[in-house]
Amino acid sequence: MEKVNFLIPVYRKVRPLFVKGKGSFLWDDKGRKYLDFFPGWGVSILGHCYSRLVKVICQQSQLLIHLPNNLYHPWQGLLAEEIVNNSFKGKVFFANSGAEAVESAIKFSRLYGEGKRYEIITMKNSFHGRTFGAMSATGQSKYKLPFKPLLPKFREVKFNDFKDFKLKVNKRTVGVILELIQGEGGVNVADKEYIKNLWGFCRERNLLFILDEVQTGLGRTGKMFCFQHYGIKPDIMLLSKGLGGGLPISCMVVRDSIADIMKQGDHASTFGGAPLVCRASLEVFKIIKEENLLNNVRVMSSYIFTRIRKMQRMVTFIREVRGRGLMLGIELKIDSYPIFEKALERGLIVNSTHRNVLRIMPAINISKQELEEGLDILESVFRDFKI
Ligand SMILES: *Cc1c(COP(=O)(O)O)cnc(C)c1O
Repeated sequence: MEKVNFLIPVYRKVRPLFVKGKGSFLWDDKGRKYLDFFPGWGVSILGHCYSRLVKVICQQSQLLIHLPNNLYHPWQGLLAEEIVNNSFKGKVFFANSGAEAVESAIKFSRLYGEGKRYEIITMKNSFHGRTFGAMSATGQSKYKLPFKPLLPKFREVKFNDFKDFKLKVNKRTVGVILELIQGEGGVNVADKEYIKNLWGFCRERNLLFILDEVQTGLGRTGKMFCFQHYGIKPDIMLLSKGLGGGLPISCMVVRDSIADIMKQGDHASTFGGAPLVCRASLEVFKIIKEENLLNNVRVMSSYIFTRIRKMQRMVTFIREVRGRGLMLGIELKIDSYPIFEKALERGLIVNSTHRNVLRIMPAINISKQELEEGLDILESVFRDFKI
C-alpha cells in the first residue's frame, strides 16, 4: 500500500508502486517492468543500482559512513581533487542537495561583494531549487508566489539576451547565476555567442560567473561538464544530481584565486562530504572514465535526436526538439502531461515539464537496444495520440 495519507501532498504522484531497479529498468510491486528514461531527474546517472557502485557503497558502509567535518577522512579531499582535475583549478565545498549548493554560492557572492555589491542577475525560466535563497534566484514565479516576501537582490533578465543583461547590470551587481541548459524551464540551451559575451563581460567587470550544473554535470551533455562545450571557465560551478550516482551529495567549486574568501566558520554542512557519499561519487567518476561513457553519450545522443526528429515529421504536434547529449526536450503544441501518462501506461518513464515539454534524460550508460525499445514505445504513443 502507498501510505500517501501520511505524506504532505506536495508531489503529483503516479500510480505504480516501484520496488526494484536495475540499470535503465524499474519494476513495480506487480512485477511489471518499466524502461526509465528519466532516472531520478538525472540523479541515477548510471541507471539504478549499478553493480560497481553498489559494491563500493556496501564496502564503504562497513568501513565508515559519516564523519563530522572537523575530522579528516581520505575521500573528501580525493573527491575534491577529482572534481577539480576534471573542471578547473579551484576548491570545493560539499553539501547535500542542489539547493544547498546554490545557497553556498549566494553566501559566497555576499562575501565577494564585501557589502558593497550584492545583486545577483538570474535568468527568466531558470530553476535553482526550493530553499529560500535558491527559490528567490529561480526565474519562474509559480515556485515563488505563495512565499513572498522573498530574499531580495535578485534581478531577472531574459535568457540568451546579452543586451538585456547589460541593461540590468549596475554598480550593486556582484554576479550572475545561470544554467547552460535550463532543465525545469523546458530544456533551453544557451547560445555559444551569448555565453562568451556574458563571460567576457563578467571578467571585465569582476562579476562572479556562477554556473548551476546541477542537472548538466557529470557527462550528461557529452562532456564531463557542460561549460566545456563553450570555451569558457566559470568562477563558481554547482553540482549535485548525478554526482553521487543516487546518493545525496552536492558541491560548490570556486576558482582557486578567490576560493579562500570563504573562511573558517563562514559556512558548514553536517552531512556534507561524508565518507560514504564521497566514495560513491569517486566511483561514479571512475566508471564514467573507465567505461568511456562520454563517448556513449555522444553516440546515443545522435541516435536519439535522429529518431525523435523523425517522429517530429510523423505527427503534427511536436513544435521543437532541443537539448544536448542525453538531455532532450520535446516541445509540444499540446499539454505534455497526458503523453507522459500514456507512455507510463505502456511501460516508459519520461518527464513532463513546463506544461508542454517532454524531457528525456536517460542513464548515460544506456545501450542502443534499450534506447530503441523506449523510443518504440514513445513513437507508438505519439502515433496513437489524438488531440
Ligand atoms: C534539481 C536542480 C536544483 C535543485 O536541486 P535539489 O537537490 O532539489 O535541491 C538546482 N538547480 C538545478 C539546475 C536543478 O536541476
